[in-house]
Amino acid sequence: MNLRIPGPTPLPPEVIEAVGQQMINHRGPEFEAMFHEISEWLKVFFATKNKVYVLTSSGTGGMEAAIVNTLSPGDRVLAVSIGVFGDRFAKIAEAYGADVERLSFPMGKAADPARVAAAVAERGPFVAVLLTQNETSTGVTNDLEALCRAIHSAADPSPLILVDGISGVPAIPLKMDEWGCDVVLSGSQKAWMAPPGVAMIAFSDRAWEAYERAKMPRFYFDLGLADKYAQRYQTPATPNIAALYGLHVSLKKMMEEGPDAFAARHQRIGEYCRQGILKLGLGLFAEPGHYSNTVTAVTLKEGWSAKQVLEALRTRYGIICGSSKAPGVEMIRIGHMGYVSEADLDQVFTALEEIFA
Ligand SMILES: *Cc1c(COP(=O)(O)O)cnc(C)c1O
Repeated sequence: MNLRIPGPTPLPPEVIEAVGQQMINHRGPEFEAMFHEISEWLKVFFATKNKVYVLTSSGTGGMEAAIVNTLSPGDRVLAVSIGVFGDRFAKIAEAYGADVERLSFPMGKAADPARVAAAVAERGPFVAVLLTQNETSTGVTNDLEALCRAIHSAADPSPLILVDGISGVPAIPLKMDEWGCDVVLSGSQKAWMAPPGVAMIAFSDRAWEAYERAKMPRFYFDLGLADKYAQRYQTPATPNIAALYGLHVSLKKMMEEGPDAFAARHQRIGEYCRQGILKLGLGLFAEPGHYSNTVTAVTLKEGWSAKQVLEALRTRYGIICGSSKAPGVEMIRIGHMGYVSEADLDQVFTALEEIFA
């Protein structure tokens, strides 16, 4: 099987082996040694001096943690959305009582930093801005550095910047400290070559100041508690030890490759995917200049439905791609993050060529 959805993603053999190991005491020295290394290595890939916490949840739990640990009900929040996951971030903030103002861009487009800055300056003051680094539903990567710069210069003090980096970090570089992001979060099953079940999240000093004021209800995702336990390399509740075994091994591999090489490899494979798709006469849904290097949204030829193509890929070739998330647009999404090679994509190109023939 060739699993080409944008998460969960395939695991390298050594990670598969790691997740099958016997359990250990999550309060014992073996766990602490593993947790210590995971924490240190995560900092490298988040480009931060801040601690990076691991939560036992999918990425959405990390999004929820970002909200409930920094905000209070009634806080004004600007939710910048370029697709399904940007909308999800807004909905979580609303569910906890934030006063959410939406700034949405059409699917396939990136967020315009000038318009975001104007919204911050004219419609504010906002306590926080919610951003998506890489919108998995459309295969669009925002220019996060430019967005952060625009937000910081649009208001003083500038609102907190909370970033959903689930399908980007660390395949698409995000310099948390350099760009002034206050919360960055990701998910183990995307670019990290690890199983689902772990969210990673980092807080800036400003985010910790906000934590002290934040009044939204929180218990399981209370980062103050996570921080207290992290001092001794533990988590407040029982963690997903198997997924952490996997993440530990994948991070070790990623450290050997190095963060720059890891990102460069995704740049190459992203470009390889786009070239292959264009050669087949298919289209790219994302706006040029904002193509994602982890997932490509492919528009189909006239008269073909996404359902029909996905079914043919799965049943005739054992290739699993993602469905369209854009209403009314017949497209498929090809994931190419983490443990992926050009050969994996060649299989997809060959299959698509045969299907369309
Ligand atoms: C996958 C994804 C999510 C949701 O993550 P889950 O792990 O399914 O909870 C949120 N945002 C983005 C950008 C994603 O790619």
